[in-house]
Amino acid sequence: MQSSRYDILFEPITLGPVTAPNRFYQVPHCTGMGWHRPKTLAAMRGIKAEGGWGVVCTEYCSVHESTDDGYYPYARLWNDEDIRANALMTDAVHEHGALAGVELCIGGNYVANTDSRVPTLGMISRPSTNVDLPHPFQCRRLDKEDIRNVRKWQRDAAKRAIEAGFDIVYVYATHGYLLSEFLSATINTRTDEYGGSLENRTRLVRELIAETRDAIGDKAALAVRFAADLSDPETYDAFAMMADMPDLWDLTVHDYGIEMGASRFVKESALENSIAKAKSMTSKPVAAVGRFTSPDTMARVVLGGVQDMIGAARPSIADPFLPVKIREGRPEDIRECIGCNICYAHNSLGVPIRCTQNPTMGEEHRKGWHPERIATVSKAERVLVVGAGPAGLEAARALGQRGYDVMLAEASRDLGGRVTQESKLPGLSEWARVRDWRVGQIEKMTNVEIFRESRLGASDVLSVGADRVLVATGASWTVDGIGRHRDTPVPRTDDATVVSADTVLSGGDLPDGPVLIHDDDHYYLAAVLALALRQRGIDVTYMTPGGRPASWTRYTNEQCATIKSLADAGVTVLTNRLIDRVERDHVVSHCVLTGTDIPVAADWVIPLTRREAHEALFRDIEAAMTTSGPGAPKSVQRIGDCDAPGIIATAVYSGYKAAVEL
Ligand code: ADP
Ligand code: SF4
Repeated sequence: MQSSRYDILFEPITLGPVTAPNRFYQVPHCTGMGWHRPKTLAAMRGIKAEGGWGVVCTEYCSVHESTDDGYYPYARLWNDEDIRANALMTDAVHEHGALAGVELCIGGNYVANTDSRVPTLGMISRPSTNVDLPHPFQCRRLDKEDIRNVRKWQRDAAKRAIEAGFDIVYVYATHGYLLSEFLSATINTRTDEYGGSLENRTRLVRELIAETRDAIGDKAALAVRFAADLSDPETYDAFAMMADMPDLWDLTVHDYGIEMGASRFVKESALENSIAKAKSMTSKPVAAVGRFTSPDTMARVVLGGVQDMIGAARPSIADPFLPVKIREGRPEDIRECIGCNICYAHNSLGVPIRCTQNPTMGEEHRKGWHPERIATVSKAERVLVVGAGPAGLEAARALGQRGYDVMLAEASRDLGGRVTQESKLPGLSEWARVRDWRVGQIEKMTNVEIFRESRLGASDVLSVGADRVLVATGASWTVDGIGRHRDTPVPRTDDATVVSADTVLSGGDLPDGPVLIHDDDHYYLAAVLALALRQRGIDVTYMTPGGRPASWTRYTNEQCATIKSLADAGVTVLTNRLIDRVERDHVVSHCVLTGTDIPVAADWVIPLTRREAHEALFRDIEAAMTTSGPGAPKSVQRIGDCDAPGIIATAVYSGYKAAVEL
């Protein structure tokens, strides 16, 4: 049973005309599913309700074709035909006794209408304010008729939301969409009753609250998502004008880099002070996020009057059953979010979200996967898993859960493979949760045995007598420089020093003198290694053929903070440069834009251009199986980085997939 100190989290709470069964509130979050993939969406949201979330919201839901975020999948209620798709989600949520919420969105000039092809509407006519998609066309400046239409669209969509079965209907007044433009003292330059004074700038929000209330009556609660931010005192003046108007506040702060910050830069409950101040100004319930994974923190913020409900997007993605686990008194089973933002990255890429910690996320419908349940086997075969990185650990855990008799052999003393190494780098400590959760689960199983310091060769593998073998031996960073931009090795003189990133990761001896890190990987590792080496007092030049450092981290919402961290640490940053050759005390860099060769001083070089799979063992086992007689395993399969080097999420997914499909 749950510990009594968490009882508060399971108290029902009245939200206007409806009652949430507990304090676990899955806020609206993007999924890369939206109106494109309603069954995928419904299955995923339904599992969260099953996992105990008292409120489950769908993603931002467009009210009209003038809000078309095109490239990013979003939900929509443009007309009556859209009701059915949304009802799939509300039915799935209601099946488990949770409330379903919908965040009605009016996009303003943040969206681009690339699909609907009507002009977007903005406060001033200018290109879309979504700087990630720099389209060469502008929005129309809203006039009074547009404002009347916006009110009607919200009202009509709210009525459809009721027909679709939603219990909570939002007015969405933050995140850069239209209402943010109205609220802003800087952007809102109108001279009519919607501009100028704060009362005028909040007018449209208040009108939409009234329209929504009128449309939903007492059939649903009315929520407002709003930024109340200590760095912007006026937000509290605006909040005070509306404090008791909705049935529920879903509060956040202006800076998405904090609200949705990667764990490298932002820790649990980071919004607390801003939220607490607003909470003290309203009699209505408040929900707010904070990447909460600790039940103690959750109980503290509710008991301490910071907020009434535990808002969550990422913690509910990493562990849809988080509330059930607290209720059942097994918080150690919570699969804690590591704050890597791989989920967000895939929505930003326009595909269903996935999760480093939860391999079933996004596959609930397509593959029928469930975060807690897995098909068990009646006849337990013996499976040998070689390598205890994220792929091997997840495979061993899931096979153990299925009832197999599992042996997990790991060459080193430490479990976790790359995760253990990388979690020692600056800001990445939470990534160790990938290892710790899996090891914790395996330790509870009597049918999974771990063998440390057991580097296996093919003959060892065959002598074990396993029925099945999974090879999860990982991959290493190469030093040849071949990669995205190069087909052949980088030429180097005999006296040049080139060091693999793995030498740094494994704590090996490093040369003296200034280093150049060449980042043709474009994700986090090159920048994090640069910071780690700076901490050791080494002069570091970070060089990339990308236009900006760590290009891919723009999808994980950590690029700006990454670039700032490099600047703060005194790392020299060179962009649009490839390595052309390496010599004793410098590299010759090649500008990808102009073709000019420029020397850069460095005594040694770390190239991050590609990794090579450790596939020798797999090949040896395959070869040995063809010649060995009875007793050979029935199958051998490679998984994780040994199969195709990738991100940690890919390795975990690969391990789970191999286990569930064995
Ligand atoms: P992945 O991300 O695919 O899980 P990692 O590189 O993180 O890959 O982990 C691979 C693990 O496999 C490492 O912990 C490594 O020590 C281990 N390993 C590599 N070769 C062998 C081997 N021959 N026998 C046992 N363990 C091995
Ligand atoms: Fe958390 Fe990463 Fe999973 Fe997103 S992908 S929920 S940030 S662990």
